[in-house]
Amino acid sequence: MKVEQVLDNLKRRFPNEVEYHQAVTEVLESIEEVYNAHPEFEKQNLIERICIPDRIFSFRITWVDDKGNVQTNMGYRVQHNNAIGPYKGGLRFHASVNLSILKFLAFEQTFKNSLTTLPMGGGKGGSDFNPKGKSNAEIMRFCQAFMIELWRHIGPETDVPAGDIGVGGREVGYMYGMYKKLARENTGTLTGKSIEFGGSLIRPEATGYGNIYFLMNMLKRKGITDLKGQVVAISGSGNVATYTAEKVLELGGKVITLSDSNGYIYDADGIDAEKLKYVFELKNVYRGRIKEYADKYGCKYVEGGRPWAEKCTIALPSATQNELNGDDAAALVKNGCMAVSEGANMPSTPEAIEVFLKNKILYAPGKAANAGGVSVSGLEMTQNSIKLSWSKEEVDQKLKDIMAAIHESCVKYGTEADGYVNYVKGANIAGFMKVAKAMMAQGVI
Ligand code: NDP
Repeated sequence: MKVEQVLDNLKRRFPNEVEYHQAVTEVLESIEEVYNAHPEFEKQNLIERICIPDRIFSFRITWVDDKGNVQTNMGYRVQHNNAIGPYKGGLRFHASVNLSILKFLAFEQTFKNSLTTLPMGGGKGGSDFNPKGKSNAEIMRFCQAFMIELWRHIGPETDVPAGDIGVGGREVGYMYGMYKKLARENTGTLTGKSIEFGGSLIRPEATGYGNIYFLMNMLKRKGITDLKGQVVAISGSGNVATYTAEKVLELGGKVITLSDSNGYIYDADGIDAEKLKYVFELKNVYRGRIKEYADKYGCKYVEGGRPWAEKCTIALPSATQNELNGDDAAALVKNGCMAVSEGANMPSTPEAIEVFLKNKILYAPGKAANAGGVSVSGLEMTQNSIKLSWSKEEVDQKLKDIMAAIHESCVKYGTEADGYVNYVKGANIAGFMKVAKAMMAQGVI
């Protein structure tokens, strides 16, 4: 395989899908050597088969808003690869959603799920529906309309969606209700459900907590065992960001920033547990903006800005893709940041990643560091299958074990001659090899 040739080919066949090209480039560049050491892979054209999704569904969603107007949106499900288990991955509702973004997410998800040690393939879906400012009733009608189309393509052993940006417990509940009605079964298809109807304890917390467990595994190699004295910059203020902040506080760290798509807050005194409780309410009950935090606590708010120029020792991007560029990365390194661990998917641009690796700081890519969410989704599927619920402690311990195992795989495949662990390379090779071996064993299909 020649990376450039494969990429040129994909760009020609799927033009303008920039996020998809970006995600594929990163993986191909880091697996090239390992791939070429296995000529049997090339003989079966494994590389194209692993880059191009198995199938994609796209559909129109029609729903009625509170004023009685008929609205349309586009809906998608990308079933990327099911070599190691049923397709699994979240649904994103955001105005920016398009096929390039969902293809990048589904591609990444395949390798992430492979890393988790659980039997899950990769998929992703969503809609360009913008949930901001919508009433509860509108959200419900939209979720129901979305599921009227999607339900026939999913199932407990086929494809199990979950949440992502704009899709939390409320949306999963509405979608599961409609799925159940149409499919006439109650097997738990969709994870991230409420605890009363098959959800798992620790699922809402899992991505954020998992990211910190991964971070602690990285820090342990440097002899650091808690976060006392660490100054932590976090972006986003949704599900991942808030539970990340909660775990940072528990381990003694100081959280100084949070953000949303309008801007960021900088709280020099630190966002403590009480202030964080307000953020949870602000986001989940009032569905307000992060600016309201600055109004309430009198701290700095930067409209339209990103938090990476603020001095910190640890950065945890937890909002969205490409939210941290080369200049941001240079500012972080210059200010003494020693670790970056990604809660979001592909938040760092290729230029930013280059800065982190060149300066040999600890850098954990999302497909390793944020795999805790899908891991506990996998545990939710297991609990649904055996019709039992595990305790909080049990799920949390399993999550810790999985994050430690993912870290171990990254160290195994990513350690360089001088001892520096290139977690990008480690995660990509470990994730790829398992899927590749499964595909080879299952023949050309
Ligand atoms: P939420 O919808 O709960 O929160 C998203 C946060 O990111 C919000 O604060 C949102 O601000 C902000 N945001 C979204 N888009 C942009 C943008 N274009 N520019 C700046 N800020 C933006 O989503 P999650 O917390 O669930 O997801 C965050 C990230 O984590 C995503 O990359 C997701 O793919 C990833 N992830 C999520 C998992 C999960 O279990 N939920 C699992 C693994 C990864 P605003 O309210 O203004 O839109």
